[in-house]
Amino acid sequence: MVDIRSVHKSFGSLDVLRGIDLQVRAGEVTVVLGPSGSGKSTLLRTVNHLEKVDRGEISVDGVLMGYRRAGDRLHELPEREVLRQRTRIGFVFQNFNLFPHLTVLDNVVEAPVSALKRPRKAAVDSAHRLLARVGLGDKAGAYPRQLSGGQQQRVAIARALALEPKLLLFDEPTSALDPELVGEVLDVIRDLAAQGTTMIVVTHEIAFAREVADTVVFMADGRIVERGAPDEVLSAPREERTRAFLAKVL
Ligand code: ATP
Ligand code: MG
Repeated sequence: MVDIRSVHKSFGSLDVLRGIDLQVRAGEVTVVLGPSGSGKSTLLRTVNHLEKVDRGEISVDGVLMGYRRAGDRLHELPEREVLRQRTRIGFVFQNFNLFPHLTVLDNVVEAPVSALKRPRKAAVDSAHRLLARVGLGDKAGAYPRQLSGGQQQRVAIARALALEPKLLLFDEPTSALDPELVGEVLDVIRDLAAQGTTMIVVTHEIAFAREVADTVVFMADGRIVERGAPDEVLSAPREERTRAFLAKVL
């Protein structure tokens, strides 16, 4: 489903991704761990082409992100094509990024109507279903500021799902939340995993990773240091750097 090949990315002289290869099969959950600055967010952002790679390529569900192949050359796609590709990938950020001036319902309805040209009535029906699914059926008319952080993040998840994405990306979805609100957001992500949603989740929630991940990836300094089943990487890491990291976060 996701095929990341030899991806390199630098910001000026800073090499942030130094040859990343990662495959995620359809229906599987990959959890990415790693210290601050190791390149986790940058990697997620390259997957939906919010960040252009310097080398390598990424395809999602068989579609090369950001480029068109012609023979053995790659041609950059125009922005509107990139936007269309991006609609197939849901992205949930640490800070929710809801539209403050729109109701919860309109936050969820906005993208399918504007990006996918869905009829508003169908998008509204679907948004109500999605809000019920994340436990917010009674909050459709509220504004983001009237919700707790955990509720806002669940709206953000419903909004991502409204595009019926092939892939969901989560960048530390619970790290801006008060501890008592983390569980309700993880519950939603856990349900999505159980339903076979393909996901890449950056998180420091190790217990959660152990439970939902098919694969755990540990990144440091722009490289994948170690990867494997959660039991291997989290309970019996082979690499010293993984051990040192886990000792800090556990
Ligand atoms: P954290 O756990 O703190 O979120 P991370 O693993 O997500 O860290 P990234 O956000 O990917 O790390 O950043 C990796 C490195 O790239 C950092 O040193 C960061 O300062 C740098 N960086 C990220 N985005 C940019 C940018 N747009 N311009 C310049 N440097 C950047
Ligand atoms: Mg980050």
